[in-house]
Amino acid sequence: MHDHSFNRIRIDLSGLESNYRLISSRAGLNIPVMAMVKADGYGHGMVRAAQAFARCGCAVFGVAELREAVVLRQGGVGGDIYVTIGFDTDEVDALFEYQLTPVIYSHEAARALSAGALARGREIGVHIKVDTGMGRLGIFPAELPAFLDVLSGLEGLKISGVMSHFPESDDPESKSTKSALHAFSPPCRELQNRFSGICHIANSGAVLNFPEARCDMVRAGIALYGYHPAGEGAARDMTDLLVPAMSFYTRILQVKTFPAGTGISYGHTFRTKRVTRIAVIPVGYEDGYSRALSNKGQVLVHGQRAPVCGRICMNMCMVDVTDIKDPVPGDEVVLLGRQGIESISADDIARRIDSISYEVLCMLGNNNQREYIG
Ligand SMILES: *Cc1c(COP(=O)(O)O)cnc(C)c1O
Repeated sequence: MHDHSFNRIRIDLSGLESNYRLISSRAGLNIPVMAMVKADGYGHGMVRAAQAFARCGCAVFGVAELREAVVLRQGGVGGDIYVTIGFDTDEVDALFEYQLTPVIYSHEAARALSAGALARGREIGVHIKVDTGMGRLGIFPAELPAFLDVLSGLEGLKISGVMSHFPESDDPESKSTKSALHAFSPPCRELQNRFSGICHIANSGAVLNFPEARCDMVRAGIALYGYHPAGEGAARDMTDLLVPAMSFYTRILQVKTFPAGTGISYGHTFRTKRVTRIAVIPVGYEDGYSRALSNKGQVLVHGQRAPVCGRICMNMCMVDVTDIKDPVPGDEVVLLGRQGIESISADDIARRIDSISYEVLCMLGNNNQREYIG
């Protein structure tokens, strides 16, 4: 028994490293970069990605849930690890055991941490999430002073930071980014007057578009994986410097020629208009290749684009290789990445299905075997 699939995600570790260096230099001297490695490193494998960033000096990592932080620690990742969306009060043990930094926004979480700290005779650093216009997690800025009062009455808590998040920083013209930054400044002053903590709000979009939002630390995700948060429309200067680190390969299973007028795949949503040579490839929606790409996707064969014909099935799809010279079973097919002089980016795929590179990377990366190069 062996467990090799026809399909392979390839992660270029040197690309991750180069992106980290670029973002770190953009953040500037003395501004740490928290590498966001949630969702298994945006599909790149969180432990390998974190290790690549660590080789370039990264010492702060961010995940969404506690269990992800535990995977990082068990994989040998050191440094600070932030758990950004919360934890169950009965999971407090693990935060101490693995020396994690929780982000909190409720009294309940604060009390549970304080009790845990007292039981161990230890202290735990916490960061507070404020909602400055994202319309998502966090307390409102106006609630911060009272929240800080409650927290400072709880033993064992070290209030070490305040954070927020931007909804539109990928757009350099966005008004909400400026107003969020404005709304973030009283909480930062409040924190700094009363405690010795740090403030952070900048995601990739802000690092690239709003240098004034860097505060004491930045939190970068998508840019570290090689994409601009604004997608294909983003300013070329930056996107040219980022290195997309993920590629997705498979190979042709079968090549056959159909007469004009033949229906292809479920529902016969594609009908051949001419004598058509079709390659069957072993990639379907189970592999994260969205069914929304039916009759819309493109792949590379012999360095040329070949369109997806008909519906994408669970484990297979069909591409038109009529105009490509001598494709045969076993030939390499690239669904994401470069082949010859052609390439397909996650933004390219995302545009076809009204999505974003983030989702494409998660879907492909987290549903296929990964190999690492560089
Ligand atoms: C994912 C995430 C980021 C990174 O966002 P990008 O747009 O990928 O740079 C920053 N902060 C928080 C809290 C996040 O969850």
